[in-house]
Amino acid sequence: MTTIAFLGTGIMGRPMAANLARAGHEVRAWNRTRAKAEPLAAEGATVFGSAREAVDGAEIVVTMLADGPTVAEVIAGAGLAPGTLWLQTSTVGIEWAGRLAGAAERAGVAFVDCPVMGTRLPAERAELQVLAAGPAEVRERAAPVFDAIGVRTRWLGPEPGTATRLKLVMNGWVLALTNATAESLALAGALGVDPESFFDVMTGTTFDVGYARMKGPLMLSGDYPASFPAALAAKDARLVVEAAGDEVDLAGAKAALAHLEAVVEAGHGEEDMAVLYRAVAKGRAAG
Ligand code: NAP
Repeated sequence: MTTIAFLGTGIMGRPMAANLARAGHEVRAWNRTRAKAEPLAAEGATVFGSAREAVDGAEIVVTMLADGPTVAEVIAGAGLAPGTLWLQTSTVGIEWAGRLAGAAERAGVAFVDCPVMGTRLPAERAELQVLAAGPAEVRERAAPVFDAIGVRTRWLGPEPGTATRLKLVMNGWVLALTNATAESLALAGALGVDPESFFDVMTGTTFDVGYARMKGPLMLSGDYPASFPAALAAKDARLVVEAAGDEVDLAGAKAALAHLEAVVEAGHGEEDMAVLYRAVAKGRAAG
């Protein structure tokens, strides 16, 4: 069993850290807002008041923080010891994956770019999909961590950024699906069509999609408990659109970004990304 520092115990990080503790690892947890880390003590983890204290003596450090700049700041403050293995699971985009890998190299720390697919519930159930890129020689050390938080790990090669590229492809899909679900439900509302018939007609067909089933009911209820906060979804939409540059025309991701930015601007950033429905449906949205 390994000593693991877990930095960032928000929606995703807290259940991931809990699953590591349940798997028998010694977990040293830290979160900026300490109250969000405290419940981990009941799961067998030790909660620390600073990232520096949490990483002290840890063989492996896992980061699950909001974005690239936050990860860089927290890691700089923590001061990782040479020989540490750093598993970077936050979604940071291509540029930041490279910058963080550079910081790791300068500190003599092994770095794995390992964003995850899955949201709050898969994180709680240890059913995440881990996308990993890093040196072959650390895979064996990383495996027990990935096995404790997820159902499958895909090693994509040694170059940091390789896993992040796939993560952006997957998130482009998720964002476009959420936006498309909002559009169809809003259109149903505008045309006087019962939104339930949207789900009814797709049942058992090839155009049925789990994501519409998950986010659609939130949109109709007007209640958006966060599995994936809109502010972070907007950050991801930005990363996807920026990564595409002028290479391809990501109209779907751009539409998702515009709708997410509108709802974040209106004060809904901490609600689930499904809240983009409010921007799509305008005055027709419930709640
Ligand atoms: P979250 O609950 O908002 O967690 C964000 C974490 O970052 C919290 O621990 C937060 O601390 C910390 N943080 C933010 N700004 C900070 C700062 N300036 N200094 C120190 N800590 C700071 O969101 P989450 O959903 O767990 O997301 C974490 C990462 O996972 C993001 O990169 C997200 O894109 C990615 N992700 C999310 C999902 C999902 O479905 N939720 C799925 C896959 C990947 P406080 O608690 O103090 O605010």
